[in-house]
Amino acid sequence: MVAKMIDGHAVARQVRAQCREWTMTLAGSGVIPGLAVIIVGDNAASRIYVANKIKACTEVGLKSTVYAFDASTPGNVVEAEIRRLNDDPTVHGILVQLPLPARMDGRRVLAAISRDKDVDGFHLYNVGALVQGETMFPPCTPFGVQKMLEYENIPVEGQNVVVVGASNIVGKPMALMLMQKDATVCICHAKTRDLAQFTILADILVVAAGRPNLILPQMVRTGAVVIDVGINRLPDGRLVGDVDFEGVRQKASYISPVPGGVGPMTVTMLVHNTVQSARRYAELQNPVHPELAWC
Ligand code: NAP
Repeated sequence: MVAKMIDGHAVARQVRAQCREWTMTLAGSGVIPGLAVIIVGDNAASRIYVANKIKACTEVGLKSTVYAFDASTPGNVVEAEIRRLNDDPTVHGILVQLPLPARMDGRRVLAAISRDKDVDGFHLYNVGALVQGETMFPPCTPFGVQKMLEYENIPVEGQNVVVVGASNIVGKPMALMLMQKDATVCICHAKTRDLAQFTILADILVVAAGRPNLILPQMVRTGAVVIDVGINRLPDGRLVGDVDFEGVRQKASYISPVPGGVGPMTVTMLVHNTVQSARRYAELQNPVHPELAWC
C-alpha cells in the first residue's frame, strides 16, 4: 500500500475560495473583514509568519493591519492598543503573534483580546467554549487538520485517534475537536512510556511534537491516516515533519507531507475565522439579511 497524499495547498485553495465568496457578499453590505496583527519584538520567524498571514488576507480581500512594537514596549501599552482595537468596528479579528518577549505576561496580553475578535482561539473563554464544543474560533492549526480530513471524506466518528503532542495550541485542541466528532482519542506527550504501543492502535494518527523522525513505519498500523503537523529544520537546511515520510507512506492509507500539508491550512483557517467573525458582526448589524447568516 502506498498512501494517498493529502495536499494542504488544494484544501487551502478550496477554503479560501469559499472565504472570497463570503467576503464579496459582505462587501455588498458595506463590511470589509478586518484583521489586526500585533507583533512585539524582532523575531525573524515571527516576521515571516506575519508576512504570510497578511498575504493570505490580501488574496481573499480582507483588510489587514500590522501593529509592530519594540521588544522593550511595556505589556500595558500593548494591552491598551488591543483594547482600542476591541472597540474598532472595522476590526473583526485580533491576533497576537507568538512568542512574545519572555518578560511580557503573555496570558494577560491574550486576555485583553475581546473574545468576539479572538480569531486564534487562545482566549481562555474560547478555550473553555472549545471544551463545551461551542467555540466561535477553533484554533487554526487543528481546525486546518479537521478540514483536511473532511476534504478527503475521512470518517472520524468511532475511529481510534492518537494525538502525539499535548500543547495548548495544537495537541490539546486537536484532541478536543476530534472528541467532539465522536472519535475515541488518546493524547501522548514527551513523558508517555513506549509511544509505539499507542500509535500502533491509531486509525488516525496526528503528530505535533516537533521531533524529526519520531514516527517510524513500525509504529503505524497498516491503512492508518497519518497527519504530520511538525515542522523541523534539519542541519542541512531541509524542512521535515515528525514522521518518517518515505517509510510511513508505504503503510498508511493517507499521509500529509511537510512542507505542503498542514502548514498552508493554518494561515487559511485564520482567514476563515476572521471572515466568520465579520459575518457574525454583519448579521448582528442587520439580522434580517439571510445570506449573512452566522454558521
Ligand atoms: P510544543 O509546544 O513544543 O509542544 C510539543 C508537544 O510534543 C508537547 O506536548 C511535548 O510533550 C510533545 N513531545 C515532545 N517530544 C515528544 C516525544 N519524543 N514523544 C511524544 N511527545 C513529545 O510544540 P507545538 O507548538 O505544539 O508544535 C508542535 C510541532 O508542530 C512543531 O514542530 C511546530 O513547529 C509544528 N507546528 C506546525 C504548525 C503548522 O502550521 N503546520 C502550527 C503549529 C505548530 P510535553 O507536553 O510532555 O512536553
